[in-house]
Amino acid sequence: MMSADPLLHARALVLSDLTAQGLVDAHTVSLVEECVAQRRWWVSQWEEGIAYVDGLVAQDVQDALFDESRRWPLCSECADPVEHSLSIEPELGPDPHWVCSESGALIAALGTLGRSA
Ligand SMILES: [Zn+2]
Repeated sequence: MMSADPLLHARALVLSDLTAQGLVDAHTVSLVEECVAQRRWWVSQWEEGIAYVDGLVAQDVQDALFDESRRWPLCSECADPVEHSLSIEPELGPDPHWVCSESGALIAALGTLGRSA
């Protein structure tokens, strides 16, 4: 699971969850690369931050997509017909996972969207 490069590990998790929702294309991949590069710089300034990069890169990508009026990841667990997204919890902590932003229900660990039974 652990990669020698924690930023590449974070990148892989986020790309996996983008793939799960059919959002991987040249544009989103370059967007992920940008977020990873920024967090790489951030970690160079604050080494302890390395423990949090998985969740932070996911939130960075989520924010960047939101700026383009794209919601990711969409919740597919609720009967609620109003489109809503998942959020990372904890926002700053280890073992980030997606929870429904409406119900608060735990959906999946980061990097495992679409794999749950
Ligand atoms: Zn939901």
